[in-house]
Amino acid sequence: MVMKMKSYDIVGIGAGPANLSLAALSTKIKNISAVFIEKRDEFVWHPGMLLPDAKLQVPFLNDLVTLADPTNPYSFLNFLSANRRLYQFIAANFNPMSRAEFNQYFQWVFNQLENIKKGEEVLNVEFDGKALSISTPKDTYQTKNLVIGTGQVPYIPALFKDHIGKDVYHNSQFMHNVGDFKNKRVAIIGGGQSGAEVFQNLLLDENNLPSEISWISKRSNFSPLDDTSFTNEVFTPKFIKYFHSLDQKNKQYYIKEHMLANQGISECTAKELYQKLYELRFIKQRKENFCLLPSHKLVSITKVNAEYSIEIQDLLSGETRNTVVDKIVLCTGYSCEIPPALSELKSMLKYDNNGLMIDENYQLIWDGMDSCSIYIQNGAQHTHGVSDTTLSVAAYRSATILNHIAGSAVYPNNEDSSLIQWGWGSNIKVGAPV
Ligand SMILES: Cc1cc2nc3c(=O)[nH]c(=O)nc-3n(C[C@H](O)[C@H](O)[C@H](O)COP(=O)(O)OP(=O)(O)OC[C@H]3O[C@@H](n4cnc5c(N)ncnc54)[C@H](O)[C@@H]3O)c2cc1C
Repeated sequence: MVMKMKSYDIVGIGAGPANLSLAALSTKIKNISAVFIEKRDEFVWHPGMLLPDAKLQVPFLNDLVTLADPTNPYSFLNFLSANRRLYQFIAANFNPMSRAEFNQYFQWVFNQLENIKKGEEVLNVEFDGKALSISTPKDTYQTKNLVIGTGQVPYIPALFKDHIGKDVYHNSQFMHNVGDFKNKRVAIIGGGQSGAEVFQNLLLDENNLPSEISWISKRSNFSPLDDTSFTNEVFTPKFIKYFHSLDQKNKQYYIKEHMLANQGISECTAKELYQKLYELRFIKQRKENFCLLPSHKLVSITKVNAEYSIEIQDLLSGETRNTVVDKIVLCTGYSCEIPPALSELKSMLKYDNNGLMIDENYQLIWDGMDSCSIYIQNGAQHTHGVSDTTLSVAAYRSATILNHIAGSAVYPNNEDSSLIQWGWGSNIKVGAPV
C-alpha cells in the first residue's frame, strides 16, 4: 500500500509536557500548520512515579503556556475554571499542589488539542537533502521543522545493567512494582527527589514495611531543592540567554553550582520523610532498620541465589562494607538521548566536548540545517542551563522555537527582565538599575 505523504510546517515527535506546550502555543499562529505525533493513546505523566502523595515541584503558573501567553486557553487556571473548581482551588490553598492534579491538567490539554496524533509511534526520520520525512506505522509526514519532544530516558549506571529485572529496577518502574516490599531488605540508590519519594512511599503502609532500607547517596547529605528567589532567577529567559553565551568551562561551572536548583529534595518531602522516620523510630519504637548513608556509593553487586550482596563505600574514608538486600531501586536520574527513530541522521549532528551543539533557539547544529531545522525540547541542559529539564521553561522554550520558525516575535518572551546583572552585557553602568 502506498501511503500519502502529509506536509506540515512543524512536526513534533512526542506529546509530553514539552511538546504539549508547543502544540498549545502553536494553535494561536494561524498561518503555521503543526502536528505532534504521540505513541501513547492517553496522556499519563510519568506513570511509574505518579505516587499518591507526589507534589509538583514548581508553581502552577509554570504551566504549559502562561509564561509565554497568559491569555492562552490551555492554561492551568482555565483548566480549573472549565472544570468548575477555581474557587475551591484557591480555598484549598495547596502549597505545593499535587502532581496528580497537574497530570489531570495535562490530560485535559492533551484531549482537547486537535493537532495531536495519538497512538502513533515515530519509527524513522529520513532526510532527502530538502525535507525531513517522519514515518509511523500508519503514515508518513513531511516537514522542514522537526521538534524532538521524546523526553529523557532513565539513567542506569553500568554496574547495574546486568541485574535489571523484577528486583532491580529504575524508579521510573516503581509504581508498576509497588506492593512487594513487606519484610524485604531494600537499597535505594540516589539521594534526590525520586529517592526521597520512593523511601517515603515504602513507609506509607506500616503493616507492610520493609525490614531494612538502606538509602545510599553520593551527595554529602540529603540536600534540599534550592527554591529561593535569587536561585529561581536561573529559570528566567535572561539567564538562559546569558548561560548560552558562556564558554564550555563556565557552563560546566554553573551547572555544578546550580545542581540543587532542580535536583534537590523538595522541602515538604524532606520534612515529611524525616518526621515519618522520627515517628517510627522514637514514638512507635519500630524495630525495622532504616539506614541513611550520604557520602556513600555502591561499588559492587553480586547476585547470590535470590539475594544481592552489595558493597558500599564511604566516600570520605574509602572504607567499604557489605550487606545483603532483596531489592534495589535505582533513583539514578535520567539522561538525554537522541531517539532511535533519528539514528539515520545521527552522523549528521554536530557535537563539542559538552555534547550536542544546540543554538540559542534550541536548534540542533547539523549538516542539513540550511534546508531543515531540528529543534530539541528537554535536551539542552548543557547549552541552556539546569532549568532546561523542568516545566519552568516549557512555555519560554516553546515560544522561542515558534518565534524562530515564524521568523518574528509572535511571543515577546520578556528576555530582558531580571533583577540580577548576569555578566556585563553591552551597555551596563555599575550602579545603574539592573
Ligand atoms: C517523576 C518526575 C516528576 C517530575 N516532576 C516535575 C515537577 O514537578 N516540576 C518540573 O518542573 N519538572 C518535573 N519533572 C521534569 C520534567 O518536567 C518532566 O520530565 C516532563 O515530563 C518532561 O516533559 P517531556 O515532554 O520533555 O518528556 P516526557 O514527559 O517524557 O514525554 C515524552 C513523550 O514522548 C513520547 N514519545 C517518546 N518516543 C516517541 C516516539 N518515537 N514516537 C512518538 N512518541 C514518542 C512519550 O510517549 C511521551 O509521551 C519531573 C520528572 C519526573 C521523571
